[in-house]
Amino acid sequence: NPSPTLRHPEHWCRSFSHFIAQCLIKDFETRPSVTHLLEHPFIKQAHGKDTSLRQQLSVLIREQQDVGNRIKTRYILPTTQTAGHCPDDDLVNLEVLDEETIIAHLQRRYQELQIYTYVGDILIALNPFQTLNIYSPQFSKLYHGMKRSTNPPHIFATADAAYQSMVTLSKDQCIIISGESGAGKTESAHLIVQHLTFLGKANNRTLREKILQVNPLVEAFGNACTAINDNSSRFGKYLEMKFTPTGAVMGAKISEYLLEKSRVIKQATGEKNFHIFYYIYAGLYHQDNLKKYRLPNKTAPRYIDCVNGKVMQDIISSKLYKEQFDAIQDCFRIIGFTEEEVNSVYRILSAILNTGNIEFTSTSSQHQSDKSEVPDSEALDNAAALLSIGSEELQEALTSHCVVTRGETIIRTNTVDKATDVRDAMSKALYGRLFSWIVNRINMNVGILDIFGFENFKKNSFEQLCINIANEQIQFYFNQHIFALEQIEYQSEGVDASLVEYEDNRPILDMFLQKPMGLLSLLDEESRFPQATDQTLVDKFQDNLRNKYFWTPKRVELCFGIQHYAGKVLYNVGGFLEKNRDTLPADIVVVLRTSENKLLQQLFSSPLTKTGNLATSRARVTAASRSLPPQLNSGRNKVDTMEMMRHPEETTNMRRQTVASYFRYSLMDLLSKMVVGTPHFVRCIKPNDDRQALRFNKERVMVQLRYTGILETVSIRRQGYSHRILIEEFVNRYYYLAFRAHQMPEGSRENAIIILQKAKLDNWVLGKTKVFLKYYHVEQLNLMLREV
Ligand code: ATP
Ligand code: MG
Repeated sequence: NPSPTLRHPEHWCRSFSHFIAQCLIKDFETRPSVTHLLEHPFIKQAHGKDTSLRQQLSVLIREQQDVGNRIKTRYILPTTQTAGHCPDDDLVNLEVLDEETIIAHLQRRYQELQIYTYVGDILIALNPFQTLNIYSPQFSKLYHGMKRSTNPPHIFATADAAYQSMVTLSKDQCIIISGESGAGKTESAHLIVQHLTFLGKANNRTLREKILQVNPLVEAFGNACTAINDNSSRFGKYLEMKFTPTGAVMGAKISEYLLEKSRVIKQATGEKNFHIFYYIYAGLYHQDNLKKYRLPNKTAPRYIDCVNGKVMQDIISSKLYKEQFDAIQDCFRIIGFTEEEVNSVYRILSAILNTGNIEFTSTSSQHQSDKSEVPDSEALDNAAALLSIGSEELQEALTSHCVVTRGETIIRTNTVDKATDVRDAMSKALYGRLFSWIVNRINMNVGILDIFGFENFKKNSFEQLCINIANEQIQFYFNQHIFALEQIEYQSEGVDASLVEYEDNRPILDMFLQKPMGLLSLLDEESRFPQATDQTLVDKFQDNLRNKYFWTPKRVELCFGIQHYAGKVLYNVGGFLEKNRDTLPADIVVVLRTSENKLLQQLFSSPLTKTGNLATSRARVTAASRSLPPQLNSGRNKVDTMEMMRHPEETTNMRRQTVASYFRYSLMDLLSKMVVGTPHFVRCIKPNDDRQALRFNKERVMVQLRYTGILETVSIRRQGYSHRILIEEFVNRYYYLAFRAHQMPEGSRENAIIILQKAKLDNWVLGKTKVFLKYYHVEQLNLMLREV
């Protein structure tokens, strides 16, 4: 019941008072109109459409003419006097720093719909599980170029800080978003893109529109409904936005990592295939085009309806799917795909669905019991027609394979199981390559990393292992940045900093990535033995991985457990070897290359490099090794880049590449992109597992805060200096603040001190070669620079 509260400002919850006070001070003084104030986005958000509340507020303001001043004295001045931040907004300002206090603080803010909170320059984002009215262009305006303490914490503020740093310092920036599945990473990434496109609007409206279409399009192909998240990312995405030196947006480039291709052929109970399959099915159905794409109209194909045969009904009746199909058509058009290309994409998707419906039976003659054939050729014919290849050739490639021994080519037949595997491998390869092609096609010419979140299901397989290793790597980078590098630097610069303890996850990463005895290497080794079984794999792990992060449970067979930074996960090795081998027989590649479809030819023209251009990729990896933290740059983690450039599933005469080795390369590539920019971190937290608004599960939040290192971060940020600039560079950059423009002072310690004193900063430290600044100093300095 907010009305009594409203009448007595001293009872207002603090953050709301903070809102009001901010509004009053900013707007009331310049435009003392109540109507204007009521239109202020914060007031609107605080009250929504509740007109009675707004009326009361207006009465209140009219009655108390001096309310602005009173609140200003009570709430704002004390806080600006301390650190320039409202104490509520930043955990670093809390006096008591234990877990309980931090949780209670976040919980209270969450109940007040303050989903964002700072820890120094890191942003914590709690998933609101409801639509909030705080992302309109009005809000973008509000945060544009503002000091952080001016407004409550917001994802726009983080995007804005990255943008301002990029423009003022001419340096690449990188925003790293992490958190578990369903925590809100993808939504955060969208919002960042939204604000950055707002900031970099310049004069090119079409480009802006294009950039905004990129995410929905890529997500239609790369996201799916899982048990945890209806729109779960099944790939990692690194979006780079390019700007001119003056800050106008020029273009965007996406890199995709580790698409979970196995979803194309099979999904766990309660989960679905990639969104796009349902969208096109619904769209083509409503366009009366199912026939054109040779899709059945009674029962949906097996790949999208493995379970109950009811999916067709859902697809037809779903308004959402149909709308999404229309939206995707628009995305294709706006981004600039030609009609022919879009048609080819639909044909390939339909071909995949038909491929899944190809069934095999064994023809047991007395001599050849392991032969398979396709008794009903409808699906086969459809798939072949859609792929513009011969139906017989396709059948051949599925049911037999060539072996070359001593220069002689022998044709061997496939068993039913083998033929089924080949069929599924072909579908996965088609989808994987189509996805890469779409991503590359979008790339027209501040990186935002939005990767799949840490996962722990009832049953965890190879996919979860890869996803969790990737998260382990991101966490390592975070730790490196926040903790380790900080400590090393303090020491070498002779700056005093009491050591902050933190959980180093490097030993776990080593256990996965080390060569030749790391888990992935062991998996690769075992994958090379045709006789290997799930049991031999577990035994191999057990014999070679002797450390506290790995164990094999006694009672559960064919399982192993890993103590990840984010918690214990039990993995089931069933299918690990096959998934890792991920082979696509050469026979299939050969037949697909005969296609008359240009797009398909392109997808299977070899060697198809993952990142487009071999030379640039190689250059990037080398550049990365230079800038990586020394631990990562040690020989054992170096990647054989040549080996990694091929598509993982392709069998060639060269040594076969496994998913694990490809994965290792992808991680390296990803890291290499991240390390070149100044990082900004967004930590997404999922307040509950039921996707309910306003529900705050203390235990769950506590666990996430612990493993994301937020607690340690609070303490190190409080005492830490997040920005270090070489003295010479500092003087060069900021001398305007203390000297005349033509003076060009020498980059000496003395001059640096003059500038720092003139700028009236407090708490800075001068190391041997660098100026150590608190995160809020840089903001203050940049603002001053702009005013000069
Ligand atoms: P995954 O690792 O599975 O990809 P994720 O961290 O990317 O998960 P999202 O897909 O971003 O999670 O978020 C899950 C859901 O939470 C969204 O579909 C949306 O309903 C809700 N959500 C997240 N952030 C917000 C927000 N800022 N405002 C409103 N709803 C949100
Ligand atoms: Mg996501």
